Amino acid sequence: NLSDRLERSFKILKGEGKITEINVAETLKDVRRALLDADVNYKTAKEFTESVRQKALGQEVLTAVKPHQLMIKIVHDELALLMGATATDVNIKGNPAIILMSGLQGSGKTTFSGKLANLLKSKRGKNPLLVACDVYRPAAIEQLKILGEQIGIPVYAEEENKNPVEIAQHAVQFAKQHGKDLVIIDTAGRLAIDEAMMTEITAIKNAVNPQEILFVVDAMTGQDAVNTAKEFNERLDFNGVVLTKLDGDTRGGAALSIRSVVNKPIKFVGTGEKLDAIDIFHPERMADRILGMGDIVSLVEKAQEQYNEEEARRLQKKIAKNQFDFNDFIAQIQQIKKMGNLKDLASMIPGVGKQIKDLDIDDDAFKSIEAIICSMTPKERSNPEILNGSRRARIAKGSGTNIQEVNNLIKQFDQTRKMMRAMTSGGGKAMLRNMRR
Ligand code: GDP
Ligand code: MG
Repeated sequence: NLSDRLERSFKILKGEGKITEINVAETLKDVRRALLDADVNYKTAKEFTESVRQKALGQEVLTAVKPHQLMIKIVHDELALLMGATATDVNIKGNPAIILMSGLQGSGKTTFSGKLANLLKSKRGKNPLLVACDVYRPAAIEQLKILGEQIGIPVYAEEENKNPVEIAQHAVQFAKQHGKDLVIIDTAGRLAIDEAMMTEITAIKNAVNPQEILFVVDAMTGQDAVNTAKEFNERLDFNGVVLTKLDGDTRGGAALSIRSVVNKPIKFVGTGEKLDAIDIFHPERMADRILGMGDIVSLVEKAQEQYNEEEARRLQKKIAKNQFDFNDFIAQIQQIKKMGNLKDLASMIPGVGKQIKDLDIDDDAFKSIEAIICSMTPKERSNPEILNGSRRARIAKGSGTNIQEVNNLIKQFDQTRKMMRAMTSGGGKAMLRNMRR
């Protein structure tokens, strides 16, 4: 399975002293094959490995971390990114909001309907109505009613009516009349995909127009889960996936494959038969689960933090001695760029968020600065004092900018340097400490 295959591919790097183009390429060939065999589509797998490759080769060398450990951490982060990076909420807007469950028999629809109703009632203040649209098995209605009783949520059912479309429509009417602001429709599934089931659920969809259709799938069914998801999505164009039975020892490769194949977010996971065994899907946690190497991931994270602290201390010393130069300056710029979108970054600074909301900061803002610094000789970069008129003219020409821009940058740099020095001496030091908190 995917987890074992990924684990094996990292072995290539074990015992290697450092990350090189060659051993990264070899590892990633394996990773890519593992992804393809797990039904991740070709383009996604290719982009995935390319992104991992760039990150691996561009990494700082951390002595505390071995190459295969670093690779595990990078793959982990990319996996999380591939599964959506952040949790996606269920859409419960509308009065009543209508959520339609779909999926094969035994996938966990009825159980999940109860879990979700309970969650949205207790955590989101909703007033739900559960609807029994599985008309084929008398036991199905009974099952939902028992669940409803356990959580104190009413169940709408019509024992004599064999038409699920009508039942769903009546239920929505009932909800409106009785002040229910959320309708959760449980439907019948079959053991395998067939036309009758698809026609029926499509008819229910068209009749009540739910703003949220959830596809429920058993995580233990592995590859079958992917095919089922694909077919349901083609017919229903659902909004999100619910992965049930993750309480077993499945590693969750299905999550990655489904996400990659249908390109719909996974919204919830079921982790047991009890009604509180429901979790919002967190890509990070699923990445941990797929790789099963959480300890290594956190080890690398710690080492990276430590590296950043050492780097910060080194810089502070240089600033104090007035040795902060253009090399440090460009390193800082690159650091900032690596962290992502400038605007996102700036908006994380307390108090700044709102002010820059309407401002247009583009990520190319540093381009000419970088070009200018790159046109300096190493000597000029470490001794900015020697930048006289003729040197400045040469740099302007070399960087495709003009004297004015070069002068501006040097002036800014001088000011920054002075400010930094003031901050690291005396009272400024305390200020810096406070800022870091
Ligand atoms: P449905 O046919 O899609 O409505 O599926 P059910 O809700 O009736 O569930 C089928 C079986 O799976 C039942 O025995 C449930 O108790 C069980 N089940 C559902 N969700 C989970 C889960 O997250 N974990 C475990 N272990 N069992 C589950
Ligand atoms: Mg059921």
